[in-house]
Amino acid sequence: MAMLEIRNVQKTFRTYAKPGLFHRPGARKVASELPVLRGVDLTVEKGDVVAILGPSGSGKTTLLRCLNFLETADAGQLVFDGESFDLAHASRADIARLRKKTAFVFQNYNLFRNKTALQNVTEGLIVARKLPKEQADEIGMKMLAKVGLADRADYYPRQLSGGQQQRVAIARALAADPEIIYFDEPTSALDPELTGEVLSVMRQLAEEGMTMLVVTHEMGFARNVSSKTVFMENGVVVEQAPSQQFFASPKEERTRAFLRRIA
Ligand code: ADP
Repeated sequence: MAMLEIRNVQKTFRTYAKPGLFHRPGARKVASELPVLRGVDLTVEKGDVVAILGPSGSGKTTLLRCLNFLETADAGQLVFDGESFDLAHASRADIARLRKKTAFVFQNYNLFRNKTALQNVTEGLIVARKLPKEQADEIGMKMLAKVGLADRADYYPRQLSGGQQQRVAIARALAADPEIIYFDEPTSALDPELTGEVLSVMRQLAEEGMTMLVVTHEMGFARNVSSKTVFMENGVVVEQAPSQQFFASPKEERTRAFLRRIA
């Protein structure tokens, strides 16, 4: 059985007209509609590293956000370890239950500015998981060591480079002991010379068997590290295949055109 099955995820962003003087309450007029996900299906096996590629605006980030309830889908089902979640109508309990199994790494790191690296990593353990501080610190130091930042535990985000901040964010994700980590363009806010250190931490996690779903523009990562590559365009999955096969012999013309453009 697959670890994660995603079925028919749909999402349209809508804007609404300003209510007129005599508008009926509850009758909001839609001013614009932007269909962003048009029925996405995806299967992730335990230990898979899935790279999601596609042109800007194709819905990659929105998909990832819907999968962790950071955005509410209009429709879609997610089955995690055999347990089913309705992505359009989830209770708070559902959301909490799912998020216990997942962690999210954001493009802009999302660290607390007023907390040290270690405090950023341990915050969730202390507040959400109610671990005693000593135990949380022990886990936190272990995770910082894992991303090569044990010697920066007491530094604040502003004292760290972008690459180091993203590694702290990865340590924080690992501290939650997730079954899968979602990465949303983890290196795209970084200067080119800093992407390598983040990608090498991700490569190490992949080698250790961590299951990861990674929205990325890093073709080297998709080609050499990910086990499976998915190409999205206009809110649908155009093609997915084991990464070697995906890059060696893409089947769809749209995939080939995309690969030519970015080559
Ligand atoms: P990608 O990650 O592939 O670049 P996104 O999922 O970020 O694509 O965005 C897909 C489309 O949805 C874009 O046109 C974007 O402007 C739009 N979009 C994303 N988030 C929102 C939002 N919260 N409200 C309205 N439109 C959005």
